[in-house]
Amino acid sequence: MKVLDHPFGDTNLKVVCEACGDLSIKAIDLANSPDSTEIRCRRYNAIRGTIADLRELARRATGEFEF
Ligand SMILES: [Zn+2]
Repeated sequence: MKVLDHPFGDTNLKVVCEACGDLSIKAIDLANSPDSTEIRCRRYNAIRGTIADLRELARRATGEFEF
């Protein structure tokens, strides 16, 4: 997922997992999940943020991401 390759400062989304330092997140269905859906680390299941955080990140990076 491309968004994880671009850390953007002060979002609530943890681009890098605090538990294991990994960039991987579990696959989620962005189109069919509410903003409050938690995004979790693929390795340790630690909460990394929510879909709302991910969408906020995308808004800041105009034109760079596709959802
Ligand atoms: Zn982790």
